Amino acid sequence: MSATTGRIDHFIQGRIVPSTSGRQQDVFNPATGEVSAQVGLASVEDVNAAVASAKAAAPAWADTAPLKRARIVSKFKELLEQNHDSLAAAITREHGKVFSDAKGEVVRGLEIVEFACGVPQLLKTQFTDNIGGGIDNWQLRQPLGVTAGITPFNFPVMVPLWMAPVAIATGNTFILKPSERDPSPSIMMAELFKKAGLPDGVFNVVQGDKLAVDTLLHHPDVKAVSFVGSTPIAEYIYTEGTRRKGAYPLRVQALGGAKNHLVVMPDANLEQAVDALIGAAYGSAGERCMSISVAVAVGNVADKLVEALIPRVKALKVRNGMDNEAEMGPVVTAVHKAKIEGYIEEGERAGARLLVDGRGLRVAGHEGGFYLGGTLFDHVTPEMKIYQEEIFGPVLCVVRVPDLGTAINLINAHEFGNGVSLFTSDGNTAREFSRRIEVGMVGVNVPIPVPMAWHSFGGWKRSLFGDMHIYGEEGIRFYTRYKSIMQRWPETIDKGAEFTMPVAK
Ligand code: NAD
Repeated sequence: MSATTGRIDHFIQGRIVPSTSGRQQDVFNPATGEVSAQVGLASVEDVNAAVASAKAAAPAWADTAPLKRARIVSKFKELLEQNHDSLAAAITREHGKVFSDAKGEVVRGLEIVEFACGVPQLLKTQFTDNIGGGIDNWQLRQPLGVTAGITPFNFPVMVPLWMAPVAIATGNTFILKPSERDPSPSIMMAELFKKAGLPDGVFNVVQGDKLAVDTLLHHPDVKAVSFVGSTPIAEYIYTEGTRRKGAYPLRVQALGGAKNHLVVMPDANLEQAVDALIGAAYGSAGERCMSISVAVAVGNVADKLVEALIPRVKALKVRNGMDNEAEMGPVVTAVHKAKIEGYIEEGERAGARLLVDGRGLRVAGHEGGFYLGGTLFDHVTPEMKIYQEEIFGPVLCVVRVPDLGTAINLINAHEFGNGVSLFTSDGNTAREFSRRIEVGMVGVNVPIPVPMAWHSFGGWKRSLFGDMHIYGEEGIRFYTRYKSIMQRWPETIDKGAEFTMPVAK
Protein backbone atom coordinates (compact mmCIF):
# COMPACT_ATOMS: atom_id res chain seq x y z
CA MET A 1 0.00 0.00 0.00
CA SER A 2 1.25 3.46 -0.90
CA ALA A 3 0.06 5.32 2.17
CA THR A 4 3.37 5.76 3.96
CA THR A 5 4.76 8.18 1.38
CA GLY A 6 5.26 11.83 2.29
CA ARG A 7 2.37 13.05 0.16
CA ILE A 8 -1.30 12.15 0.64
CA ASP A 9 -3.83 12.99 -2.05
CA HIS A 10 -7.28 11.99 -3.29
CA PHE A 11 -8.50 8.61 -4.54
CA ILE A 12 -10.91 9.11 -7.42
CA GLN A 13 -12.08 6.63 -10.07
CA GLY A 14 -9.83 3.91 -8.70
CA ARG A 15 -6.55 5.82 -8.58
CA ILE A 16 -4.56 8.38 -6.63
CA VAL A 17 -5.28 11.88 -7.96
CA PRO A 18 -3.23 14.90 -6.87
CA SER A 19 -4.98 17.93 -5.47
CA THR A 20 -5.36 20.80 -7.97
CA SER A 21 -5.83 23.53 -5.37
CA GLY A 22 -2.15 24.19 -4.65
CA ARG A 23 -3.14 24.13 -0.97
CA GLN A 24 -1.67 21.59 1.40
CA GLN A 25 -1.32 20.96 5.10
CA ASP A 26 1.30 19.33 7.33
CA VAL A 27 0.51 15.96 8.89
CA PHE A 28 2.40 15.38 12.16
CA ASN A 29 3.68 12.38 13.99
CA PRO A 30 2.42 13.38 17.46
CA ALA A 31 4.94 11.10 19.17
CA THR A 32 7.89 13.11 17.86
CA GLY A 33 6.30 16.39 16.82
CA GLU A 34 7.82 15.99 13.35
CA VAL A 35 5.99 16.49 10.06
CA SER A 36 5.43 13.02 8.56
CA ALA A 37 3.60 14.00 5.36
CA GLN A 38 1.75 16.70 3.50
CA VAL A 39 -1.92 16.31 2.65
CA GLY A 40 -3.22 17.97 -0.50
CA LEU A 41 -6.45 19.87 0.21
CA ALA A 42 -9.22 19.62 -2.37
CA SER A 43 -10.37 22.37 -4.68
CA VAL A 44 -14.03 22.63 -5.73
CA GLU A 45 -13.00 20.96 -9.02
CA ASP A 46 -11.44 18.00 -7.16
CA VAL A 47 -14.66 17.42 -5.22
CA ASN A 48 -16.72 17.77 -8.40
CA ALA A 49 -14.51 15.13 -10.06
CA ALA A 50 -15.10 12.73 -7.17
CA VAL A 51 -18.86 13.31 -7.30
CA ALA A 52 -18.87 12.80 -11.09
CA SER A 53 -16.98 9.52 -10.66
CA ALA A 54 -19.37 8.35 -7.94
CA LYS A 55 -22.39 9.39 -10.01
CA ALA A 56 -21.20 7.54 -13.09
CA ALA A 57 -20.60 4.36 -11.08
CA ALA A 58 -23.94 4.54 -9.23
CA PRO A 59 -26.45 2.97 -11.68
CA ALA A 60 -24.46 -0.22 -12.36
CA TRP A 61 -23.57 -0.62 -8.69
CA ALA A 62 -27.21 -0.18 -7.62
CA ASP A 63 -28.16 -2.87 -10.16
CA THR A 64 -25.54 -5.30 -8.89
CA ALA A 65 -27.21 -8.10 -6.92
CA PRO A 66 -26.91 -7.56 -3.14
CA LEU A 67 -25.23 -10.95 -2.79
CA LYS A 68 -22.50 -9.92 -5.24
CA ARG A 69 -22.03 -6.62 -3.42
CA ALA A 70 -21.82 -8.54 -0.15
CA ARG A 71 -19.11 -10.82 -1.56
CA ILE A 72 -16.93 -7.81 -2.42
CA VAL A 73 -17.50 -6.35 1.04
CA SER A 74 -16.57 -9.75 2.48
CA LYS A 75 -13.33 -9.78 0.48
CA PHE A 76 -12.62 -6.24 1.75
CA LYS A 77 -13.05 -7.58 5.29
CA GLU A 78 -10.50 -10.32 4.61
CA LEU A 79 -8.02 -7.74 3.29
CA LEU A 80 -8.55 -5.47 6.29
CA GLU A 81 -7.72 -8.44 8.51
CA GLN A 82 -4.56 -9.17 6.51
CA ASN A 83 -3.51 -5.51 6.81
CA HIS A 84 -4.59 -5.10 10.43
CA ASP A 85 -1.11 -4.21 11.69
CA SER A 86 -0.20 -1.76 8.94
CA LEU A 87 -3.52 0.07 9.35
CA ALA A 88 -3.01 0.25 13.12
CA ALA A 89 0.57 1.48 12.65
CA ALA A 90 -0.68 4.27 10.35
CA ILE A 91 -3.24 5.28 12.98
CA THR A 92 -0.55 5.40 15.67
CA ARG A 93 1.81 7.35 13.41
CA GLU A 94 -0.68 10.12 12.61
CA HIS A 95 -3.08 10.07 15.58
CA GLY A 96 -0.67 9.09 18.34
CA LYS A 97 -2.81 6.49 20.12
CA VAL A 98 -1.15 3.38 21.50
CA PHE A 99 -0.68 0.60 18.91
CA SER A 100 -2.80 -1.98 20.81
CA ASP A 101 -5.61 0.61 21.04
CA ALA A 102 -5.26 1.32 17.30
CA LYS A 103 -5.59 -2.42 16.65
CA GLY A 104 -8.77 -2.39 18.73
CA GLU A 105 -10.08 0.49 16.62
CA VAL A 106 -9.59 -1.58 13.46
CA VAL A 107 -11.47 -4.49 15.06
CA ARG A 108 -14.46 -2.29 15.93
CA GLY A 109 -14.52 -1.07 12.32
CA LEU A 110 -14.24 -4.62 10.99
CA GLU A 111 -17.37 -5.57 12.90
CA ILE A 112 -19.41 -3.11 10.82
CA VAL A 113 -17.90 -4.58 7.65
CA GLU A 114 -18.99 -8.02 8.88
CA PHE A 115 -22.48 -6.66 9.56
CA ALA A 116 -22.66 -5.21 6.02
CA CYS A 117 -21.85 -8.66 4.59
CA GLY A 118 -25.37 -9.66 5.66
CA VAL A 119 -26.94 -7.09 3.34
CA PRO A 120 -29.10 -9.53 1.30
CA GLN A 121 -30.92 -10.43 4.52
CA LEU A 122 -30.91 -6.82 5.77
CA LEU A 123 -32.56 -5.53 2.60
CA LYS A 124 -35.37 -8.08 2.81
CA THR A 125 -38.73 -6.42 3.28
CA GLN A 126 -42.31 -7.47 3.92
CA PHE A 127 -44.79 -8.90 1.45
CA THR A 128 -48.54 -9.23 1.79
CA ASP A 129 -50.22 -11.66 -0.53
CA ASN A 130 -53.65 -10.60 -1.74
CA ILE A 131 -54.52 -7.48 0.21
CA GLY A 132 -57.80 -7.69 -1.76
CA GLY A 133 -58.98 -7.69 -5.35
CA GLY A 134 -56.01 -9.74 -6.58
CA ILE A 135 -53.54 -7.09 -5.41
CA ASP A 136 -50.25 -7.91 -3.64
CA ASN A 137 -48.32 -5.27 -1.65
CA TRP A 138 -44.60 -5.25 -0.81
CA GLN A 139 -41.72 -2.84 -0.27
CA LEU A 140 -38.31 -2.12 -1.66
CA ARG A 141 -35.38 -0.46 0.05
CA GLN A 142 -33.52 1.26 -2.77
CA PRO A 143 -30.13 2.99 -2.66
CA LEU A 144 -29.99 6.79 -2.73
CA GLY A 145 -27.14 7.21 -5.25
CA VAL A 146 -24.07 9.26 -4.33
CA THR A 147 -23.49 9.48 -0.57
CA ALA A 148 -20.69 11.10 1.43
CA GLY A 149 -19.05 10.76 4.84
CA ILE A 150 -17.11 13.43 6.73
CA THR A 151 -15.08 12.02 9.58
CA PRO A 152 -13.10 13.17 12.65
CA PHE A 153 -9.44 12.67 13.53
CA ASN A 154 -9.94 10.44 16.52
CA PHE A 155 -10.96 7.23 14.71
CA PRO A 156 -9.49 7.45 11.20
CA VAL A 157 -10.38 3.80 10.41
CA MET A 158 -13.36 2.96 12.60
CA VAL A 159 -15.58 5.97 11.89
CA PRO A 160 -15.25 5.74 8.07
CA LEU A 161 -16.13 2.05 8.52
CA TRP A 162 -19.28 3.04 10.44
CA MET A 163 -20.45 4.51 7.13
CA ALA A 164 -18.83 3.25 3.93
CA PRO A 165 -19.50 -0.53 4.18
CA VAL A 166 -23.19 0.05 4.94
CA ALA A 167 -23.59 2.69 2.21
CA ILE A 168 -21.81 0.53 -0.36
CA ALA A 169 -23.43 -2.79 0.56
CA THR A 170 -26.88 -1.19 0.22
CA GLY A 171 -26.00 -0.16 -3.35
CA ASN A 172 -24.81 3.44 -3.02
CA THR A 173 -21.53 4.98 -4.09
CA PHE A 174 -19.56 6.80 -1.41
CA ILE A 175 -17.14 9.71 -1.05
CA LEU A 176 -15.07 9.88 2.11
CA LYS A 177 -13.72 13.22 3.35
CA PRO A 178 -11.45 12.15 6.22
CA SER A 179 -9.83 14.39 8.80
CA GLU A 180 -6.89 16.30 7.39
CA ARG A 181 -4.98 15.54 10.61
CA ASP A 182 -4.64 11.78 9.97
CA PRO A 183 -5.49 11.12 6.32
CA SER A 184 -3.32 8.07 5.42
CA PRO A 185 -5.70 5.28 6.50
CA SER A 186 -8.37 6.59 4.10
CA ILE A 187 -6.12 5.88 1.11
CA MET A 188 -5.10 2.50 2.52
CA MET A 189 -8.77 1.52 2.78
CA ALA A 190 -9.48 2.80 -0.76
CA GLU A 191 -6.71 0.58 -2.10
CA LEU A 192 -8.08 -2.42 -0.21
CA PHE A 193 -11.59 -1.81 -1.57
CA LYS A 194 -10.15 -1.75 -5.08
CA LYS A 195 -8.18 -4.93 -4.45
CA ALA A 196 -11.38 -6.55 -3.17
CA GLY A 197 -12.94 -6.01 -6.60
CA LEU A 198 -15.01 -2.89 -5.94
CA PRO A 199 -15.66 -1.16 -9.29
CA ASP A 200 -13.86 2.17 -9.78
CA GLY A 201 -15.89 5.16 -8.62
CA VAL A 202 -17.90 3.30 -5.96
CA PHE A 203 -15.54 4.41 -3.18
CA ASN A 204 -13.68 7.72 -3.56
CA VAL A 205 -11.66 9.81 -1.13
CA VAL A 206 -11.23 13.58 -1.17
CA GLN A 207 -8.77 15.08 1.25
CA GLY A 208 -9.62 18.54 2.44
CA ASP A 209 -11.09 21.09 4.78
CA LYS A 210 -14.18 23.31 4.96
CA LEU A 211 -14.11 23.96 1.22
CA ALA A 212 -14.39 20.23 0.44
CA VAL A 213 -17.14 19.80 3.03
CA ASP A 214 -19.18 22.75 1.75
CA THR A 215 -18.82 21.60 -1.85
CA LEU A 216 -20.13 18.13 -0.92
CA LEU A 217 -23.01 19.63 1.10
CA HIS A 218 -24.18 21.84 -1.74
CA HIS A 219 -23.59 19.46 -4.64
CA PRO A 220 -27.00 18.53 -6.09
CA ASP A 221 -25.81 14.99 -6.96
CA VAL A 222 -24.93 14.14 -3.35
CA LYS A 223 -28.01 12.57 -1.77
CA ALA A 224 -26.89 11.87 1.80
CA VAL A 225 -24.17 13.03 4.16
CA SER A 226 -23.06 11.28 7.34
CA PHE A 227 -20.96 13.46 9.61
CA VAL A 228 -19.07 12.62 12.79
CA GLY A 229 -17.12 15.33 14.61
CA SER A 230 -17.49 18.19 17.06
CA THR A 231 -20.89 19.67 17.93
CA PRO A 232 -20.47 23.13 16.35
CA ILE A 233 -19.55 21.57 13.00
CA ALA A 234 -22.24 18.86 13.33
CA GLU A 235 -24.88 21.54 13.89
CA TYR A 236 -23.56 23.53 10.94
CA ILE A 237 -23.60 20.46 8.65
CA TYR A 238 -27.13 19.57 9.71
CA THR A 239 -28.64 23.05 9.32
CA GLU A 240 -26.77 23.84 6.13
CA GLY A 241 -27.43 20.41 4.60
CA THR A 242 -31.12 20.12 5.43
CA ARG A 243 -31.74 23.66 4.10
CA ARG A 244 -30.91 22.51 0.60
CA LYS A 245 -33.86 22.84 -1.78
CA GLY A 246 -34.65 20.59 -4.74
CA ALA A 247 -36.45 17.39 -5.67
CA TYR A 248 -34.27 15.34 -3.33
CA PRO A 249 -33.55 17.13 -0.06
CA LEU A 250 -30.17 16.12 1.36
CA ARG A 251 -30.45 13.41 3.98
CA VAL A 252 -28.15 14.27 6.90
CA GLN A 253 -27.06 12.55 10.08
CA ALA A 254 -24.53 14.54 12.12
CA LEU A 255 -22.99 13.07 15.25
CA GLY A 256 -21.38 15.61 17.56
CA GLY A 257 -19.36 15.98 20.73
CA ALA A 258 -19.76 14.59 24.21
CA LYS A 259 -19.24 14.95 27.93
CA ASN A 260 -19.70 11.48 29.32
CA HIS A 261 -20.35 10.83 33.01
CA LEU A 262 -19.62 7.71 35.04
CA VAL A 263 -21.69 7.52 38.21
CA VAL A 264 -20.19 5.62 41.13
CA MET A 265 -22.80 4.51 43.68
CA PRO A 266 -21.82 3.78 47.32
CA ASP A 267 -22.63 0.08 46.69
CA ALA A 268 -20.36 -0.17 43.63
CA ASN A 269 -17.30 -2.40 43.63
CA LEU A 270 -14.79 0.41 44.09
CA GLU A 271 -11.84 -1.43 42.59
CA GLN A 272 -13.81 -2.16 39.43
CA ALA A 273 -15.07 1.43 39.23
CA VAL A 274 -11.53 2.81 39.56
CA ASP A 275 -10.18 0.44 36.86
CA ALA A 276 -13.07 1.48 34.61
CA LEU A 277 -12.45 5.20 35.18
CA ILE A 278 -8.72 4.97 34.53
CA GLY A 279 -9.20 3.10 31.25
CA ALA A 280 -12.17 5.13 30.03
CA ALA A 281 -10.82 8.58 30.99
CA TYR A 282 -7.19 8.20 29.92
CA GLY A 283 -7.31 5.53 27.19
CA SER A 284 -6.53 7.13 23.82
CA ALA A 285 -5.50 10.23 25.85
CA GLY A 286 -9.20 11.00 26.36
CA GLU A 287 -9.65 11.60 22.63
CA ARG A 288 -12.72 9.38 22.26
CA CYS A 289 -16.28 10.58 21.92
CA MET A 290 -17.16 7.86 24.46
CA SER A 291 -14.34 8.72 26.89
CA ILE A 292 -15.44 9.33 30.44
CA SER A 293 -14.59 12.89 31.42
CA VAL A 294 -16.73 13.25 34.57
CA ALA A 295 -16.82 10.89 37.56
CA VAL A 296 -19.97 11.51 39.58
CA ALA A 297 -19.31 10.33 43.13
CA VAL A 298 -22.54 9.63 45.01
CA GLY A 299 -22.69 10.06 48.80
CA ASN A 300 -19.85 8.81 50.96
CA VAL A 301 -17.98 7.11 48.11
CA ALA A 302 -16.25 10.36 47.04
CA ASP A 303 -13.23 10.45 49.40
CA LYS A 304 -12.43 6.77 48.88
CA LEU A 305 -12.79 7.11 45.13
CA VAL A 306 -10.50 10.13 44.87
CA GLU A 307 -7.90 8.52 47.16
CA ALA A 308 -7.84 5.45 44.93
CA LEU A 309 -7.67 7.46 41.70
CA ILE A 310 -4.73 9.74 42.56
CA PRO A 311 -1.91 7.12 42.57
CA ARG A 312 -3.34 5.43 39.49
CA VAL A 313 -3.39 8.68 37.49
CA LYS A 314 0.15 9.51 38.61
CA ALA A 315 1.33 6.04 37.57
CA LEU A 316 -0.02 6.19 33.99
CA LYS A 317 2.65 5.15 31.49
CA VAL A 318 2.66 7.91 28.88
CA ARG A 319 4.93 6.93 26.01
CA ASN A 320 5.32 6.82 22.27
CA GLY A 321 2.36 4.74 21.04
CA MET A 322 4.61 2.06 19.51
CA ASP A 323 6.20 1.36 22.92
CA ASN A 324 4.81 -1.95 24.18
CA GLU A 325 4.57 -0.57 27.71
CA ALA A 326 2.59 2.54 26.75
CA GLU A 327 -0.85 3.00 28.30
CA MET A 328 -1.38 6.46 26.84
CA GLY A 329 0.22 8.20 23.86
CA PRO A 330 0.49 11.89 22.93
CA VAL A 331 -2.46 14.05 21.90
CA VAL A 332 -2.98 14.73 18.23
CA THR A 333 -1.35 18.16 17.65
CA ALA A 334 0.50 20.91 19.46
CA VAL A 335 -2.56 23.15 19.01
CA HIS A 336 -4.81 20.58 20.64
CA LYS A 337 -2.33 20.14 23.49
CA ALA A 338 -2.33 23.90 24.13
CA LYS A 339 -6.14 23.91 24.13
CA ILE A 340 -6.26 21.17 26.79
CA GLU A 341 -3.65 23.02 28.89
CA GLY A 342 -5.86 26.10 28.63
CA TYR A 343 -8.76 24.11 30.14
CA ILE A 344 -6.53 22.97 33.03
CA GLU A 345 -5.62 26.61 33.78
CA GLU A 346 -9.27 27.54 33.53
CA GLY A 347 -10.25 24.78 36.01
CA GLU A 348 -7.72 26.05 38.56
CA ARG A 349 -8.95 29.62 38.10
CA ALA A 350 -12.55 28.54 38.65
CA GLY A 351 -11.63 26.93 41.98
CA ALA A 352 -11.66 23.21 41.14
CA ARG A 353 -9.06 21.26 43.15
CA LEU A 354 -6.24 20.10 40.85
CA LEU A 355 -5.08 16.79 42.35
CA VAL A 356 -2.88 15.57 39.50
CA ASP A 357 -1.46 18.01 36.93
CA GLY A 358 -0.40 16.46 33.62
CA ARG A 359 1.21 19.61 32.23
CA GLY A 360 4.94 19.78 31.66
CA LEU A 361 5.40 16.06 31.07
CA ARG A 362 8.59 15.16 29.14
CA VAL A 363 8.96 11.77 27.48
CA ALA A 364 12.63 10.85 27.23
CA GLY A 365 13.83 10.64 23.65
CA HIS A 366 10.60 12.24 22.38
CA GLU A 367 10.96 15.78 23.69
CA GLY A 368 9.22 17.30 20.68
CA GLY A 369 6.10 15.08 21.04
CA PHE A 370 2.68 16.41 22.02
CA TYR A 371 2.52 14.71 25.43
CA LEU A 372 0.37 15.50 28.42
CA GLY A 373 0.11 13.44 31.58
CA GLY A 374 -3.16 12.33 33.14
CA THR A 375 -4.91 15.18 34.97
CA LEU A 376 -7.42 14.88 37.81
CA PHE A 377 -9.70 17.56 39.26
CA ASP A 378 -11.90 17.19 42.36
CA HIS A 379 -14.76 19.40 43.61
CA VAL A 380 -15.77 20.35 40.08
CA THR A 381 -19.17 22.07 39.95
CA PRO A 382 -21.73 22.34 37.13
CA GLU A 383 -21.17 26.04 36.40
CA MET A 384 -17.45 25.52 35.65
CA LYS A 385 -16.31 25.58 32.04
CA ILE A 386 -14.27 22.38 32.58
CA TYR A 387 -17.56 20.66 33.46
CA GLN A 388 -19.67 22.18 30.71
CA GLU A 389 -17.36 21.91 27.70
CA GLU A 390 -15.80 18.94 25.94
CA ILE A 391 -12.05 18.99 26.67
CA PHE A 392 -11.19 15.92 24.56
CA GLY A 393 -7.99 15.19 26.46
CA PRO A 394 -6.71 13.18 29.46
CA VAL A 395 -8.57 15.25 32.08
CA LEU A 396 -11.00 13.68 34.54
CA CYS A 397 -13.31 15.85 36.67
CA VAL A 398 -14.85 14.53 39.89
CA VAL A 399 -18.24 15.99 40.80
CA ARG A 400 -19.65 15.12 44.23
CA VAL A 401 -23.43 14.66 44.63
CA PRO A 402 -25.54 13.50 47.62
CA ASP A 403 -27.78 10.92 45.89
CA LEU A 404 -28.79 9.15 42.67
CA GLY A 405 -31.61 11.61 41.89
CA THR A 406 -29.16 14.54 41.96
CA ALA A 407 -26.77 12.57 39.72
CA ILE A 408 -29.54 11.92 37.19
CA ASN A 409 -30.70 15.56 37.22
CA LEU A 410 -27.10 16.76 36.77
CA ILE A 411 -26.52 14.53 33.73
CA ASN A 412 -29.93 15.29 32.21
CA ALA A 413 -29.22 19.03 32.47
CA HIS A 414 -26.01 18.73 30.43
CA GLU A 415 -26.23 19.79 26.79
CA PHE A 416 -24.53 16.59 25.58
CA GLY A 417 -26.05 13.12 25.78
CA ASN A 418 -23.69 10.72 24.05
CA GLY A 419 -22.69 8.03 26.57
CA VAL A 420 -23.11 7.45 30.30
CA SER A 421 -22.15 4.74 32.73
CA LEU A 422 -23.34 3.64 36.15
CA PHE A 423 -21.40 1.47 38.59
CA THR A 424 -23.64 -0.23 41.15
CA SER A 425 -24.43 -3.67 42.51
CA ASP A 426 -28.16 -2.98 42.80
CA GLY A 427 -30.47 -4.07 39.96
CA ASN A 428 -33.24 -1.63 40.75
CA THR A 429 -30.85 1.34 40.84
CA ALA A 430 -29.54 0.27 37.42
CA ARG A 431 -33.03 -0.13 36.00
CA GLU A 432 -34.24 3.22 37.33
CA PHE A 433 -31.11 4.98 36.06
CA SER A 434 -31.31 3.41 32.58
CA ARG A 435 -34.94 4.45 32.19
CA ARG A 436 -34.62 8.03 33.48
CA ILE A 437 -31.33 9.09 31.98
CA GLU A 438 -31.46 11.32 28.86
CA VAL A 439 -28.44 9.88 27.08
CA GLY A 440 -28.29 7.76 23.91
CA MET A 441 -25.91 5.01 25.08
CA VAL A 442 -25.97 3.64 28.62
CA GLY A 443 -23.54 1.29 30.34
CA VAL A 444 -24.30 -0.53 33.57
CA ASN A 445 -20.96 -1.55 35.07
CA VAL A 446 -19.66 -1.04 31.50
CA PRO A 447 -17.62 2.17 31.13
CA ILE A 448 -17.64 2.59 27.33
CA PRO A 449 -20.95 1.25 26.01
CA VAL A 450 -20.25 1.53 22.25
CA PRO A 451 -23.04 -0.59 20.71
CA MET A 452 -22.13 -3.64 18.64
CA ALA A 453 -22.32 -3.43 14.85
CA TRP A 454 -25.94 -4.60 14.66
CA HIS A 455 -27.13 -2.21 17.41
CA SER A 456 -26.95 1.36 16.12
CA PHE A 457 -24.70 4.07 17.63
CA GLY A 458 -25.80 7.59 18.53
CA GLY A 459 -26.26 10.11 21.29
CA TRP A 460 -29.12 12.38 22.31
CA LYS A 461 -29.45 16.15 22.65
CA ARG A 462 -26.50 18.11 21.15
CA SER A 463 -24.55 14.91 20.52
CA LEU A 464 -26.62 14.01 17.44
CA PHE A 465 -28.45 16.09 14.83
CA GLY A 466 -30.86 14.12 12.66
CA ASP A 467 -33.31 11.32 13.35
CA MET A 468 -31.26 8.24 12.69
CA HIS A 469 -28.37 6.73 14.58
CA ILE A 470 -25.41 5.35 12.67
CA TYR A 471 -24.68 1.77 11.46
CA GLY A 472 -26.79 -1.28 12.38
CA GLU A 473 -30.36 -1.31 11.13
CA GLU A 474 -30.67 2.48 11.42
CA GLY A 475 -27.71 2.65 9.02
CA ILE A 476 -29.52 0.43 6.52
CA ARG A 477 -32.51 2.78 6.73
CA PHE A 478 -30.36 5.89 6.43
CA TYR A 479 -28.75 4.75 3.19
CA THR A 480 -31.95 3.48 1.50
CA ARG A 481 -35.27 4.86 0.40
CA TYR A 482 -38.41 2.99 1.19
CA LYS A 483 -40.80 2.27 -1.65
CA SER A 484 -44.14 0.49 -1.47
CA ILE A 485 -45.40 -1.43 -4.51
CA MET A 486 -48.94 -2.67 -5.18
CA GLN A 487 -49.44 -4.94 -8.12
CA ARG A 488 -52.19 -6.88 -9.87
CA TRP A 489 -52.61 -8.44 -13.28
CA PRO A 490 -55.33 -7.83 -15.92
CA GLU A 491 -57.29 -11.04 -15.24
CA THR A 492 -58.17 -9.81 -11.73
CA ILE A 493 -59.17 -6.23 -12.64
CA ASP A 494 -62.91 -5.43 -12.55
CA LYS A 495 -64.33 -3.37 -15.36
CA GLY A 496 -65.09 0.34 -14.90
CA ALA A 497 -63.53 3.37 -13.20
CA GLU A 498 -63.67 3.67 -9.39
CA PHE A 499 -64.21 7.10 -7.85
CA THR A 500 -64.17 6.15 -4.17
CA MET A 501 -61.09 5.63 -2.00
CA PRO A 502 -59.85 2.11 -2.80
CA VAL A 503 -60.57 -0.35 0.02
CA ALA A 504 -59.86 -4.07 0.38
CA LYS A 505 -62.58 -6.22 -1.15
P1 NAD B 1 -14.03 18.44 13.88
O1 NAD B 1 -15.46 18.79 14.04
O2 NAD B 1 -13.02 19.50 14.03
O3 NAD B 1 -13.77 17.81 12.42
C1 NAD B 1 -14.60 16.79 11.91
C2 NAD B 1 -14.60 16.90 10.38
O4 NAD B 1 -15.18 18.15 10.01
C3 NAD B 1 -13.23 16.83 9.76
O5 NAD B 1 -13.29 16.04 8.59
C4 NAD B 1 -12.91 18.29 9.43
O6 NAD B 1 -12.10 18.43 8.29
C5 NAD B 1 -14.29 18.87 9.16
N1 NAD B 1 -14.37 20.29 9.52
C6 NAD B 1 -13.63 20.95 10.46
N2 NAD B 1 -13.99 22.25 10.51
C7 NAD B 1 -14.96 22.42 9.60
C8 NAD B 1 -15.74 23.55 9.20
N3 NAD B 1 -15.57 24.74 9.75
N4 NAD B 1 -16.66 23.38 8.23
C9 NAD B 1 -16.84 22.16 7.67
N5 NAD B 1 -16.14 21.06 8.01
C10 NAD B 1 -15.21 21.18 8.97
O7 NAD B 1 -13.76 17.21 14.87
P2 NAD B 1 -12.37 16.53 15.24
O8 NAD B 1 -11.59 17.45 16.10
O9 NAD B 1 -11.74 15.97 14.03
O10 NAD B 1 -12.88 15.28 16.10
C11 NAD B 1 -13.15 15.35 17.47
C12 NAD B 1 -14.61 15.64 17.72
O11 NAD B 1 -15.41 14.63 17.13
C13 NAD B 1 -14.97 15.61 19.20
O12 NAD B 1 -15.87 16.64 19.44
C14 NAD B 1 -15.62 14.26 19.39
O13 NAD B 1 -16.53 14.17 20.45
C15 NAD B 1 -16.33 14.12 18.08
N6 NAD B 1 -16.64 12.73 17.79
C16 NAD B 1 -17.92 12.34 17.94
C17 NAD B 1 -18.26 11.02 17.72
C18 NAD B 1 -19.66 10.55 17.87
O14 NAD B 1 -19.93 9.43 17.50
N7 NAD B 1 -20.58 11.34 18.37
C19 NAD B 1 -17.27 10.10 17.33
C20 NAD B 1 -15.97 10.55 17.18
C21 NAD B 1 -15.66 11.88 17.42
